[in-house]
Amino acid sequence: MISFTITKRSKKSRARLGILKTPHGTVQTPAFVPVATQAAVKALTSEQVMRTKTQILISNTFHLHIRPGEKVVKAGGGIQKFMNLQKPFMTDSGGFQVFSLGFGKDFGMGKILSQKQKQNTSIQVGQQPKLLKITEDGVLFRAYTDGREMFLGPKESIAIQQALGADIILAFDECTSPIADHEYTQRSLEKTHRWAKVCLKAKTSDQALYGIVQGGKFKDLRIESAQFIGGLPFDGFAIGGEFGDNKAIMSKMLRWTIPELPDEKPRHLLGIGYLEDMPKIIAEGVDTFDCIVPTHYARRGVAFTSRGELELSKQKFLNDRAPIDRNCGCEVCQGGYTRSYLTHLLRAKEIAPLTLITIHNLFFFNTYVERLRAAIAQGKL
Ligand SMILES: [Zn+2]
Repeated sequence: MISFTITKRSKKSRARLGILKTPHGTVQTPAFVPVATQAAVKALTSEQVMRTKTQILISNTFHLHIRPGEKVVKAGGGIQKFMNLQKPFMTDSGGFQVFSLGFGKDFGMGKILSQKQKQNTSIQVGQQPKLLKITEDGVLFRAYTDGREMFLGPKESIAIQQALGADIILAFDECTSPIADHEYTQRSLEKTHRWAKVCLKAKTSDQALYGIVQGGKFKDLRIESAQFIGGLPFDGFAIGGEFGDNKAIMSKMLRWTIPELPDEKPRHLLGIGYLEDMPKIIAEGVDTFDCIVPTHYARRGVAFTSRGELELSKQKFLNDRAPIDRNCGCEVCQGGYTRSYLTHLLRAKEIAPLTLITIHNLFFFNTYVERLRAAIAQGKL
């Protein structure tokens, strides 16, 4: 079980400071939640994760179900013991990934969407994606590893998440594409709401279960979903949805949704967390949020700094003997690593810089949110 205590509310915005207690530790909120998709923060050991100010992580039900299978994780003592990482954990429901295999693949959608992927097309009722079959009870799909047929629905998702053993688990939902029309989104929402009740009934563990609010880009559906899901006895609430690069809709969507949710329970925003998003989503009342940005960009040689992003694979850094960021307290910046050396390693296709930049980026993101918490404490946010 978890407990959530709000310690301060902003007078300027909906931002709040909170303490989220879980069986594996305490999280100061608002908090950034790094992604450990396949029971690993890519490129890092668990000890290295511990040194990045990371408070809580999110792992992936869909991927862990396919490989190695939840039985292996359970036999290993649950996600924390399996990973040798004693930190609070969340698992997502697998809904996002399984649906990404569908319309997401067909239309080139993703959480991180480029301008050129935008298309003037829409998804309508009755339409089925090419690679999977959506039914009333869940989704039939083929594993990307060996092509075997698999089924994931609310009951299956909860059973898998119970075996994985995270502190916080998520209800199974359909994450609709930003190009789905109103009618498709409405029908999908009715299914997500039905599945929410199935998830509540299916859970037998003492893990915390968060309901998920959907409704796409439509105000009426967002409000309806927040009221419906907010009225069910969940321990917290996650807000889902894909917005592509439409940040304006994301802020509006939070303004429609959050006032409808029970104030005393924690709220998680799924898959959003560019640095520039953070003050905005926190001001709307989001307590935790996960995003692959710091780890994903690190593996492409991009470091985040107090003066913007650095593409460290560029030749111009080869003679730059400064650390990634002079103002950063991470072990990479403080430990004597130079931009010059990291650039050389990246250009030589070595593995080490991916680890070093990931450590820096995670530390940088967590420190950034720490400052936003201080800003709330000081009445500035
Ligand atoms: Zn650093």
